[in-house]
Amino acid sequence: MGDVDDHAIVIGAGVTGVLTARALARRFARVTVVDRDTLRPEPAFRPGLPQSPQIHAFWKRGVDCAEYLLPGLTRDLADRGAHLLVVPRDFLWLSPVGWFPRVSGTGDLTCSRPLLDWLLRHRADADPRIEFLQDSLVTGLVATPGGDGVQGVRVRTTGSDDSRVLTAGLVADASGRRSEATKWLTELGYAAPSVERYDAGFGYSSRYYKLPDSAERDWKAIYIQTSPSMPRGAALVPVEGGRWMATLMGCGDHVPPTKDDQFLDYVRSLRSPVLYEALREAEPLSDAQAFRNTANEWRHYESMDRRPRGFIVLGDALCRFNPVYGQGMTVGAMSAKAIADAIDGMDPTRIHDDSPRLQRVAAAQSADAWALATGEDLRFPWTRGRPPGAKVKLLHQYMSHVVAAGNVDASTCRTIFQVFGMTAPPTALFKPSSVARVLSHWRTPTTPSPQAAAPPPRV
Ligand SMILES: Cc1cc2nc3c(=O)[nH]c(=O)nc-3n(C[C@H](O)[C@H](O)[C@H](O)COP(=O)(O)OP(=O)(O)OC[C@H]3O[C@@H](n4cnc5c(N)ncnc54)[C@H](O)[C@@H]3O)c2cc1C
Repeated sequence: MGDVDDHAIVIGAGVTGVLTARALARRFARVTVVDRDTLRPEPAFRPGLPQSPQIHAFWKRGVDCAEYLLPGLTRDLADRGAHLLVVPRDFLWLSPVGWFPRVSGTGDLTCSRPLLDWLLRHRADADPRIEFLQDSLVTGLVATPGGDGVQGVRVRTTGSDDSRVLTAGLVADASGRRSEATKWLTELGYAAPSVERYDAGFGYSSRYYKLPDSAERDWKAIYIQTSPSMPRGAALVPVEGGRWMATLMGCGDHVPPTKDDQFLDYVRSLRSPVLYEALREAEPLSDAQAFRNTANEWRHYESMDRRPRGFIVLGDALCRFNPVYGQGMTVGAMSAKAIADAIDGMDPTRIHDDSPRLQRVAAAQSADAWALATGEDLRFPWTRGRPPGAKVKLLHQYMSHVVAAGNVDASTCRTIFQVFGMTAPPTALFKPSSVARVLSHWRTPTTPSPQAAAPPPRV
């Protein structure tokens, strides 16, 4: 395939796309990142990331993967006002049962999504092997002459009818939740991958605030989780520029509003008044913006009977999650790092043929997050998707006791947050030592009182 062997294309300049470009630039001489949007030289909203006005917390595991691929990123983010929080120590975190103790479980980075998006791109742009092609919509894939793979993409400049072909030894689709990869593959004669989908119907509403100065505040963030008995929750996190982001999240009849007065009414109706107390005197800095369409969806490109060579799909384009668990960016970053490790030492000419393995590697990064998100969503009786079987129902019962134990036992709480933050697999909650701790707190009530008690102080 000549020159194209030394060139890779990444579709999408989001978190997954930029980090995948860095992973591929370790082996390919050139990587072109193609994005439909104008990529502005400063943090800004862009239509290709419609979810970016919403809260975007980045678990430490994801931050570490991003740091591995872009050394110095974390320091740079902190210098620009991002916050590295210890969870749940720095939070008032109300679980479906009660408050979690304020112990060190994992880390979480908070800043606006536009800042993170821009800084990732800005840093990757300094890599001479990576080129960003903006205002360029990918409209299809180009097959290899033998028809057993992909050797490029068709690109149309935004706002024009001009179309051209870019060729490459590997094409990685990181174009997010609205990816058209399935359509592109079927156009080339491949069967569509099977799709799993679970939708609890969550809606979001977010806005920026300025909080009054307070010497008394012993927390840095608040999170009030939803549960089937109270399907409305909220979060308040610090972001750059001395601002805070307040996000409401709810499902069923509890999808949150965006209107000014209704926003605070919703906050007032939560299980604890802490967030209302925090926002009561706060100054709104923006209107509230809504987001719907939060289903979990896994398109199983890794299990297609006939898989194209030279093409992989990662990030939300492959598997997306109900965002209330904050997993998407971390899984995208984990996939990019896993690809970097999987191609370590490989000659780029071999990567084209090895893409089915790389697809499996990428998909494997989603498995734990998927189990957690869909397992929890299936607690909501209105969740659309395959109904829970006996095993999932049993897991729900055990997990209710895990959360109840985590409310009173620091060690269990730590493990819960390591699993949430993906620094430990869900199986950590089933190790004999974890089970023993859960059993020793089996009598702790698993159902919450409608109104939570006062939150615990920081320890
Ligand atoms: C309401 C909400 C809240 C969320 N909160 C969190 C959170 O707290 N923590 C977390 O980790 N995750 C969160 N997520 C998930 C997170 O937004 C995604 O997982 C993450 O953005 C996925 O990154 P990506 O790079 O795969 O895709 P995206 O970030 O969606 O990037 C896709 C890119 O592809 C480009 N593109 C699309 N189509 C084309 C095309 N045909 N040609 C060229 N370019 C194209 C787009 O312009 C965009 O730049 C949230 C999601 C939602 C909806």
